[in-house]
Amino acid sequence: MKPASFKYYAPESLEEALVLKAQYGDEARILAGGQSLIPAMNFRIMQPTVLLDLNLLAELSYTSSKDSAVLHIGAMTRLSEVEDDPLIADRVALLHESLPYIAHPQIRNRGTVGGNIAHADPAAELPVIALATDSRFRVQSTNGSRWINSDDFFRGYFETAIEPNEILVELEVPFHVTNTGWAFLEVSRRSGDYAMAGIAVLITLDRDYICRQARLVYLNLSDAPLEAKQSADMLVGETLSDELIEQVANKASEEEIMPMESLHATVNYQRHLACILTKRALELAYGRAKET
Ligand SMILES: Cc1cc2nc3c(=O)[nH]c(=O)nc-3n(C[C@H](O)[C@H](O)[C@H](O)COP(=O)(O)OP(=O)(O)OC[C@H]3O[C@@H](n4cnc5c(N)ncnc54)[C@H](O)[C@@H]3O)c2cc1C
Repeated sequence: MKPASFKYYAPESLEEALVLKAQYGDEARILAGGQSLIPAMNFRIMQPTVLLDLNLLAELSYTSSKDSAVLHIGAMTRLSEVEDDPLIADRVALLHESLPYIAHPQIRNRGTVGGNIAHADPAAELPVIALATDSRFRVQSTNGSRWINSDDFFRGYFETAIEPNEILVELEVPFHVTNTGWAFLEVSRRSGDYAMAGIAVLITLDRDYICRQARLVYLNLSDAPLEAKQSADMLVGETLSDELIEQVANKASEEEIMPMESLHATVNYQRHLACILTKRALELAYGRAKET
């Protein structure tokens, strides 16, 4: 099938793109890597009347770290560039670990960080990582730019806080602090498929291996990335034991996640996966935190 007809613009500067976005608002869709948008247009699930292709904007493709606490990633940075970045592997290991789970290498060569986040698929990896790392997003319009925290950004199934006149331009990811352990795990039917369930865990310990901070964020177990705050709070102030990990996994999978049945997994099966993944991810993250 072919897409419905549309006007096509390839602005040569961000300013030009913002003027066009202000002019066309919701009618205009940003074309980033096109890996989700173009199939949706071909199936006529999406029928934008205007496409704003950002692929000429080299200014939106970068990773940079001006201070020692955070990393900035431009919205048009390809997923494969993030995957291969040694600074990210070293300082934001959770993000690095999640990248190979996104689709296939060919898709990661075209797909962008901004596109993966703005698309807001509950089964996508980067929104989960953004929430687990407490990242922020910078969106820009002709009126200026503003930052949105990740817990305000994802509004539900394919919905974000980006306004019709705005473009997502940058992601800010805090580096892991010392004594932090991480784990990203998911289950999909075939390698490269969207996962039926997944989890990102970050745990920070003190010198006595007592948990000072914990975050548990789930993939495809709600209509948006879901943080299990009450379950994570059970870990704070504690030394992790098998018994505690079991209790946390039971609470998160029975009480906090909100799975939506799909063709691939029943709600019960998704709860089962969440429980197993939580236990494995906590054990892995705790072990890593003790080693750092
Ligand atoms: C076979 C297949 C398997 C896949 N499996 C996975 C997977 O397992 N996990 C996963 O996370 N993803 C998966 N994807 C999706 C892939 O990661 C996409 O590349 C990604 O979701 C969208 O990135 P993109 O740059 O291609 O965005 P596009 O397809 O160009 O855009 C996606 C949406 O985001 C909007 N958008 C893009 N950039 C911006 C911006 N800067 N500001 C505002 N809005 C913007 C677009 O207008 C559009 O609505 C898969 C895709 C395919 C085809």
